[in-house]
Amino acid sequence: MTVNSGTIESDASKVPVNLMGLTRDQMEQFFEDMGEKRFRAQQVLKWIHHAGITQIEEMSNLGKALREKLMLVAEVRPPEIVSQQDSSDGTRKWAIRVDGGGLVETVLIPAGNRATLCVSSQVGCSLDCSFCSTGKQGFQRDLSAAEIIGQVWVAIKSYDAFQSGNERTVTNVVMMGMGEPLLNFDNVVAAMELMMEDLAYGLSKRRVTLSTSGVVPALDRLAEVSEVSLAVSLHAPNDELRNELVPINRKYPIEILLESCRNYMAAQKDKSRVVTVEYTLIAGVNDHPEQARELANLLRDFPCKINLIPFNPFSLSDYRRPSGNAVSRFWQVLVDAGYIVTIRTTRGDDISAACGQLVGNVVDRTGRSGRYRAGREAEIITAG
Ligand code: SAH
Ligand code: SF4
Repeated sequence: MTVNSGTIESDASKVPVNLMGLTRDQMEQFFEDMGEKRFRAQQVLKWIHHAGITQIEEMSNLGKALREKLMLVAEVRPPEIVSQQDSSDGTRKWAIRVDGGGLVETVLIPAGNRATLCVSSQVGCSLDCSFCSTGKQGFQRDLSAAEIIGQVWVAIKSYDAFQSGNERTVTNVVMMGMGEPLLNFDNVVAAMELMMEDLAYGLSKRRVTLSTSGVVPALDRLAEVSEVSLAVSLHAPNDELRNELVPINRKYPIEILLESCRNYMAAQKDKSRVVTVEYTLIAGVNDHPEQARELANLLRDFPCKINLIPFNPFSLSDYRRPSGNAVSRFWQVLVDAGYIVTIRTTRGDDISAACGQLVGNVVDRTGRSGRYRAGREAEIITAG
């Protein structure tokens, strides 16, 4: 990324830097390396993330000479959208093609005066949780910071909310799309920084949520650099079952994970914040009222709220979604034990809008495979 003013022409043969993914610090450094003033970064950040401008020649306050110099070494490249689908309930889903040929998806879920965007961090996932279709695809690669923040850019653009003053815009972001965000640490942290950066999207830390299946050393590191809201994918009340559902548990068992979450919360200035515990309910596997009691016991003294997610079936899985009654029974046990418990609402049914599940429809059209049946559920996390 280093660009020295004397070497710009020879740099032109190199891959241009995608300014879309640079944080404020990185952008300032970039301009300094170019022999330019650091404050140029502020102007460019605003053009990209406030105005939605991707053509450097349109960045009128940069001056012609600087624009020309910049165009030799940099670009602003948003994600390549392969398809956009709208549900009758307002949920909107994009399939995005990334360099190297993979596809990721992004889902926008409006609810009242909010709109939550579910963002992907990797193409596939290496952690292979037994109930997750993303995991079944294996791991292809990490997304760059530009590809991650670009998903936010796309969603805001679709609302026509850049510059226009349109009040409909993205109000919350959840890192719950494809991939394990903590295994793509630097790029995810950079993208989340831009989500919260005033010169970019200016979201409060409460409205940016990272969901992890429990990569403990990375979570410990996150506590040192970030203040985003934390969701942890628990899915089981004991190690024996969690080892089966979430294989990374064999490396970082529940007690160690909960301790790491505690440390994360302890590092936050605002002591009123809590962890969101995600629990995907699978019929006959982890949805028995006895398991709800075990969960209530496990989380005693752990500052959290619980989000129950009825399982989304897909063709490579024999798991089943529990009945509405089973979900209610599980919920009731936890509520009676004094927890705040939400049940993730089904959204975007008609466009198969499950966060984190690369959708079969896109793949089917190319005739390559129909393995990944679309999910039905969109993510609603009530952060903020
Ligand atoms: N890797 C991170 C974030 C992406 S998964 C994590 O595991 O937390 C986001 C959420 O979707 C997780 O809570 C995960 O358990 C849930 N999920 C994955 N597959 C699902 C399925 N088939 N049905 C219901 N929820 C699922
Ligand atoms: Fe990866 Fe999360 Fe799916 Fe597990 S649930 S395989 S960590 S994306």
